[in-house]
Amino acid sequence: MKHIPRKRFGQNFLTDRAVIDAIVDAIHPLPGQTVVEIGPGLMALTQPLVERVGKLSVIELDRDLAVRLRTHPQLDVVESDVLKVDFRALAQRLGVAKLRVAGNLPYNISSPILFHLLEQVDVVEDQHFMLQKEVIDRMVAKPATSDYGRLTVMLQWRYAMENVLFVPPESFDPPPKVDSAVVRMVPREQPAQLDAKLLEELVRVAFSQRRKILRNTLGKWLDEKGFNGDFDAQRRAEEVPVAEYEALAASVSAPKA
Ligand code: SAM
Repeated sequence: MKHIPRKRFGQNFLTDRAVIDAIVDAIHPLPGQTVVEIGPGLMALTQPLVERVGKLSVIELDRDLAVRLRTHPQLDVVESDVLKVDFRALAQRLGVAKLRVAGNLPYNISSPILFHLLEQVDVVEDQHFMLQKEVIDRMVAKPATSDYGRLTVMLQWRYAMENVLFVPPESFDPPPKVDSAVVRMVPREQPAQLDAKLLEELVRVAFSQRRKILRNTLGKWLDEKGFNGDFDAQRRAEEVPVAEYEALAASVSAPKA
């Protein structure tokens, strides 16, 4: 029976064979690797992925799609909201230390998915995601650009990222209203050791009023945290490189002597 795409599940199915091949090539799955696909849908990526790795775990929320997926002998189907999936427990069940995670994500919850994985990045080998292009532009943005913001800092702190493919709306059925792209995210080997919650708070305060200089937005927060280091607060939030945010968060979270 033909599946009618469900808007509430962000269902835009990939149909362009060249794009599917390009994404799978970008992921470069090898036999025996432990790959987890988020939102397999009608298996556009699933089938070529499972052909390369042999066995694949897939996380699908749509019950009707999960029923179909279960008939595939090489798929381990997790019928769940990905935001509730414990990836550490999944890695343990699959008997591996790290997972390769991939998927053409439901765009309506792409940021929550990115943050959910950020919290469990210790079990992630790498991530390849199709997202709204505008979101990927923000993820890979450079300082002093309008795309540079909270998402940029929170993700660049922990991942090296690159935009690997542009994908136009015509590659999907139904076509989304926006351009898409594929991002590769590789966890940084030696991330700054700091309290992610504190970095999150710092970045939220800093970017709360992008047009203002940081003395006016962040000054009070830094005072409250007892910061007495060197920091040029005459800049706007978007002018401060990720490494400086890391250093700032590390210095206020460092145990007081
Ligand atoms: N991978 C397929 C493709 O490329 O054609 C489908 C991609 S479609 C953009 C997103 C998929 O994610 C759909 O299969 C949808 O049912 C599923 N999905 C939506 N919300 C989800 C959630 N919270 N957890 C897991 N899967 C979800």
